[in-house]
Amino acid sequence: MAYDLLIKGGRIYDGSGMPSYMGDIAVRGGRIVEIGRIAGGAGRTIDAGGLAVAPGFIDHHTHMDAQIFWDPYATSEPQHGVTSIVMGNCGLTLAPAKTSDHDALVKSFVRVEAMPRSVLEQGVPWGWHTYGEYLDALEGKLGVNAGGLVGHIAVRQYVMGEESVERAAAVAEVGEMKRLVLEAMESGALGFSTNRNERHMREDGKPVASRLADDAELFALCQTLGDLNAGVIETILGLNKVEHFKFYDRLARTTGRPVLWQSLQHRWAEPNLWREQLDAVAPIFEDGYQAYGLSHTVPLVRRFTLKDCQVFDEFPTWKALMFLPVEARREAFLDPATRRKMRDDFAAPRKTNYHRRWDVLRVDKTARPENRRYDGKSLAEVAALRGQDPLDALLDLALEEDLATVFWNANNGGDADAMGEILRSPYVLMGTSDAGAHVQFGADFGYGTTLLGLWVRERQVMTLEHAIHKLTFHVASVFGLAGRGLIRPGYAADLVVLDPKTVDAHEPEWADDYPGKTRRLVQRSEGVLWTIVNGRPIFAEGKLTGELPGAVLRGSAYRGRQAAAA
Ligand SMILES: [Zn+2]
Repeated sequence: MAYDLLIKGGRIYDGSGMPSYMGDIAVRGGRIVEIGRIAGGAGRTIDAGGLAVAPGFIDHHTHMDAQIFWDPYATSEPQHGVTSIVMGNCGLTLAPAKTSDHDALVKSFVRVEAMPRSVLEQGVPWGWHTYGEYLDALEGKLGVNAGGLVGHIAVRQYVMGEESVERAAAVAEVGEMKRLVLEAMESGALGFSTNRNERHMREDGKPVASRLADDAELFALCQTLGDLNAGVIETILGLNKVEHFKFYDRLARTTGRPVLWQSLQHRWAEPNLWREQLDAVAPIFEDGYQAYGLSHTVPLVRRFTLKDCQVFDEFPTWKALMFLPVEARREAFLDPATRRKMRDDFAAPRKTNYHRRWDVLRVDKTARPENRRYDGKSLAEVAALRGQDPLDALLDLALEEDLATVFWNANNGGDADAMGEILRSPYVLMGTSDAGAHVQFGADFGYGTTLLGLWVRERQVMTLEHAIHKLTFHVASVFGLAGRGLIRPGYAADLVVLDPKTVDAHEPEWADDYPGKTRRLVQRSEGVLWTIVNGRPIFAEGKLTGELPGAVLRGSAYRGRQAAAA
């Protein structure tokens, strides 16, 4: 056989953003060897007639550092066309680590990333010391490709022990941290991550270690990457203030490395924030420095009934009502004085995360057949149909249906015009899946399938070529993943075969597949038929294949050192 794998008759979206075209793709030895009209035979042939073929997606914002050990596929990533993941974000890594550091690192993961402690205790096969040894522990055991950033929290803990959560570092300690970052980068880290989010604490209520770092320490560590001319600097500072953009600017300018910040998103409560953020970051790029905002593609949707509802908890009257027994709550909803208080509560001028917009809050599903006409309509529309005020419409409809009406709300990411501008911005890096974290609160493995289904097919905010580019070559370029993210001869055969007519993400659902049968949320997809890593399918026609073709992705500082040694 001429080839190991032949993908016949698909439409190729090659990751560059160039127009798609009809063609076959031949793979040998894990790499793409030919593209076009290919006659030779192959060990395995996939008929991609009527389908799109793209580079596999690269999920650069995961917290799979632990899960990857018991789940080499990093599920549900392959179900959504992801072939490569980056771990070690937000300052959190499991290396470098002395034995005496293990519990401190677990404390940070448990609280910041909401990972059950029992899962980490059962599932992490500690045995490494350096960052390189951590990566070595993954060699030969991966379904997806996996690389990682080295986290400031682990580096600081390693050098300062428990004092890392109490004080600034001495000059000698910063020197020792620099040595650890250098060692991590030279053994394959793709960059360095730090965390200054004032809400990020450990399980014991102490701040995560990186929050105690002053600017001198942080810039010194980041300059290690500048001196190596390698790697990305990933940051999380919390609330986005104008000073933060000065910080990103200074960091990008002094190191010359791409800086990533979190996050650029549309919020109904601050509807102009995203535009201010884009305006603030544009001058940095105009001067030739990179400071990418990470953007979520998935609207933050909450479905609820008035039997069980936390959406309005920022409003005291509403919150108190939701804590009443259901029967008493029903009575209260009927009372005009209560309704007046609810209305006043909404009208009070103060800052809330809930947007208080009746054109955004929707009826998702009514319980009675005579109310079906309201399904999918905003409360503003329902109120108009009923000739009522929106608040009365909300409460009366719910009361008519024994409080079983399902409502739909999205505080973030719901405005198609804003989302279109955000997602199309060249200064935005797509995806904040946080996969592997917050596993009992959400699952956004499908940030890519949502982009292709919701934003490309349904809302048409960008072309499929552009969207695929943002999920693949754009990410590979920023993270320095050589030979990945494009369909070109010589590139790794990381590929996804999907149906643009149906591709989408399902709602998350429960599984008990974590260590100790612990529950977590997983997510299925629609329209992803094949996910191929280094030429071998890991997800095919709805199932994981059992193959382990994934590689450890090591950055350019490692590759440079290997080349120099050879
Ligand atoms: Zn994160």
